[in-house]
Amino acid sequence: LFISFEGGEGAGKSTQIKRLADKLRAKGYGLTVTREPGGSQGAEAVRHVILSGAAEPFGPKMEALLFAAARSDHVEQVIRPAVERGDIVLCDRFVDSWRVYQGGAGNIDPVFMAVIERVSVNGMMPDLTLIFDIDPAVGLRRATARRGNEVADRFERETLAIHEARRAAFLEIARNDPERCVVIDAAQEPDAVEDAVTRAVFSVIER
Ligand code: C5P
Repeated sequence: LFISFEGGEGAGKSTQIKRLADKLRAKGYGLTVTREPGGSQGAEAVRHVILSGAAEPFGPKMEALLFAAARSDHVEQVIRPAVERGDIVLCDRFVDSWRVYQGGAGNIDPVFMAVIERVSVNGMMPDLTLIFDIDPAVGLRRATARRGNEVADRFERETLAIHEARRAAFLEIARNDPERCVVIDAAQEPDAVEDAVTRAVFSVIER
């Protein structure tokens, strides 16, 4: 079973992934917790290049391709083997973030995006995607409160309008793929978010 966690900055994905992982582990499920970009040795190296700012001169198409290359490695080295041995895979961001962040930047041809998505995912789409939805003004406030991490600079240069467009793009993905996606109201208290996550996850585990 493959579950991805998506949404904008400061939506609380990491906190909820930790809580869910603890809960599932306590119930005896085999678990793989991973992230995109990253998750495999090669993909973590690419993550570093992208998020350190070294990718600044690359241009949107090259950045999209780098993410896809990293994803392909992550899928084949980590996600697929884990799913095949029966683990529940929890992935912090996956293809939807890429559709929204890279697909939303620099007028990239949607056909180009669709083709490299298909090649890089290679059939390994999540069974469930939780889309953490929050007003970006609130999310950014939360995210900058934990400043000092590798990403602070990256999103500080972006306008609120960009974050609002991303929020709309995530919600549109959820609307277009209701079989896979569940929108979580991430503005709630952490315990309420946890309840919503638990309900969505167990409805798929028990399906
Ligand atoms: O998931 P997390 O918030 O740690 O992601 C780190 C950063 O990577 C995000 O703030 C975002 O700016 C960036 N990112 C991106 N494109 C993706 C995934 C993440 O620009 N597809």
